Amino acid sequence: MPGLYRDSGVVLRTIKLGEADRIVTFVTQAHGKVRAVAKGVRKTKSRFGARVEPLSHVSLLLYEGRDLDIVSQAETLDHFRAIREDLDRMSSAMALLEAVDQVSQEREPNARLYQMLVGALRSLAARDAPLLVPAFFWKLLSLEGAHPVLDQCASCGASGEDAELVAFDLTEGGALCRTCRRGGPVSPDGLAMIRRILGGDLARVLDEPRTPVTDEVSRLATRALEDHIERRLRSIHIL
Ligand SMILES: [Zn+2]
Repeated sequence: MPGLYRDSGVVLRTIKLGEADRIVTFVTQAHGKVRAVAKGVRKTKSRFGARVEPLSHVSLLLYEGRDLDIVSQAETLDHFRAIREDLDRMSSAMALLEAVDQVSQEREPNARLYQMLVGALRSLAARDAPLLVPAFFWKLLSLEGAHPVLDQCASCGASGEDAELVAFDLTEGGALCRTCRRGGPVSPDGLAMIRRILGGDLARVLDEPRTPVTDEVSRLATRALEDHIERRLRSIHIL
């Protein structure tokens, strides 16, 4: 049937439409960000029920519309109950969803972004970790082509023992030496942890307990992502 397509997606947000409907924003595996109308979803006997609420991972059948698509079927792949039942984890999940919503483009396929989000939500459902959200933000920036310079001064290129990297500003490209410093301060341990996150040591990074260094890396991640998207993240500042 023309105009009908299947995909999998995670619900990023929903807004009310008229009396009974909602416009649902999904990030999908094959079609990028998709906005679609879920009809009758706010009625008690809705066909979709809780399946199209933020955070739900669903298998979808959609009709392509001129402006908005229409949700024809939605089957739950994962409801992430463990996240929903824990306020802290739910807040973390909302931060992930908001970040993905901010960087993704409508109908611009980005399978890697979808996979990263599903992976992070599964990890969050399994256990909470202080660096889960910040690590996701750093990875997201890297995926977006904003991989920070961490081993030398992003401004003058100074490296080695002479270059004391003391500041971080993503708009300058990353770490900065004492001469070029701007943005916020960064500690050697903080930089080392960001290197580990982006250098393939993510699994062990998620085992790190909360420390002043993880807090620092978390603050830097939020600021870097906000610099990149040029706006504040609502969900983070609610935390
Ligand atoms: Zn410099």
